[in-house]
Amino acid sequence: MTDATSRPVRTRFAPSPTGSLHIGGLRTALFNWLFARHHNGSFILRIEDTDQERYDATALQTLVEALRWAGLQWDEGPEVGGQFGPYVQSERLAHYQQWARWLVDNDKAYRCFCSSERLKQVNEEKVARKEPPGYDRFCRSLSPAESAQRAANGESYVVRFKTPLDGQTVVQDWIRGESVFENANQQDAVLLKSDGFPTYHLAVVVDDHLMQISHVMRAVEWFPSFPLHWQLWDAFGWEKPVFAHLPVMLNPNGKGKISKRHPPVDKHGKTIPVMVHDYMRAGYLPEAMLNFLANIGWNFGDEREVFTMVEAIERFDLTRINPANSAFPTEKLDWLNGEHIRLLSPEELARRLKPVLEAAGFEVNVEVLLKVTPLVQVRMKSLSDVVEIAGFFFRETFIPAAPEKLPQKKMDARQTRDALVAAAARLGELTDFSIEAQKLAMETLAQELGLSNSQLFGVLRVAITGQQVSTPLFETMDILGKDTSLERLKLAGESLLVQS
Ligand code: GLU
Repeated sequence: MTDATSRPVRTRFAPSPTGSLHIGGLRTALFNWLFARHHNGSFILRIEDTDQERYDATALQTLVEALRWAGLQWDEGPEVGGQFGPYVQSERLAHYQQWARWLVDNDKAYRCFCSSERLKQVNEEKVARKEPPGYDRFCRSLSPAESAQRAANGESYVVRFKTPLDGQTVVQDWIRGESVFENANQQDAVLLKSDGFPTYHLAVVVDDHLMQISHVMRAVEWFPSFPLHWQLWDAFGWEKPVFAHLPVMLNPNGKGKISKRHPPVDKHGKTIPVMVHDYMRAGYLPEAMLNFLANIGWNFGDEREVFTMVEAIERFDLTRINPANSAFPTEKLDWLNGEHIRLLSPEELARRLKPVLEAAGFEVNVEVLLKVTPLVQVRMKSLSDVVEIAGFFFRETFIPAAPEKLPQKKMDARQTRDALVAAAARLGELTDFSIEAQKLAMETLAQELGLSNSQLFGVLRVAITGQQVSTPLFETMDILGKDTSLERLKLAGESLLVQS
């Protein structure tokens, strides 16, 4: 089987906007987007909001924000439009009603007038007889005339599918091959509710047809609905898309699907967020997130784990999708994030660090930031690390380290103070304050004082930056300048109370 069809490739991501986007949803969107881009096709965003009591406009906004952050731009859908719109299902009710009607008129579906009390009673009786619960198809045998008359009289009804009563439904999934379902086990599913809203089953089939979707890629949790959808496509007589049910992500321990209600836990017992917004806030790069998600269930080949989406688009196909659900390899995300941070140009990284620093309350001098960026780029795992490592560059007033933080291993306060005083004097004498000159002077001084380089440099770094974790010493002094550096060394030396 090939994953291409003779039809133009059109894929869709069809989330129900129930809040922020789940990372599993982002992965489904990603695979659809990659496939569409690989085939120069179209990627469509469709909002499936017919199951909701009330449609929450902020949920759509959050979703759009997450997809835009990830760079998964849709060619058709909300905000961008397209020739098959509207792309929000609650605005498409007339289509579903028309096609439900068509099914009734063509004896493929029927009106069911049973009350909820009757359905409940039927269920209870079935359970008492130890039969599986479900509708007893009471209204299936109503004559078309009676059915039409009762509807015309204003009686409330739902539309149910006339499931074939016997035989089998053989479905084809691109990733999973052929599966056989016994029709006798299927229910007469509700397609249209009494309020005129469709159920997911009717809406998804009608829209995938009307929007000319060529490939349906969705999470495998929809597989149980697959035979019903297949039968619906057949009932309508429409050309089916290629279906591919994607594996889902499991908890890192391999047990259970990750979800908001059962958030995954890493091997240290720490809860791992499942919402895209959590990752946006925590300073992950969209490039890393997409690389990470693409690695779950699909592989680039050549054992390559780090790649860009431009590279992934070139290679993406359905043959390398592994049907088995796979565990969520949390530790890989931090590693990939660091890798992608290092793939950015320093200018691009600086552009992304600016809002992170600003959100932490710093006023950012862009010139300083451009100098600081290469220093943090080699050390960062996440964008927010910049606050801890290099926030001090942007502080209005310097916060010195507590005196007890200054001495390094095997050093006492007196030695530390003497080292600070001597370093300040030696650096003060330098006419050339370049990194190389500072380094040479301090290496010489360390030797003279009988200290190791790491002892002396450690003391100076804490004195200069006020913190334990920071950018490297000489580069930092270079950016801060001679006067500020000397002032801070002096201040640190004075902070150490030494009995004379
Ligand atoms: N609306 C469904 C969801 O929220 C989409 C399922 C599908 O892609 O067919 O996951």
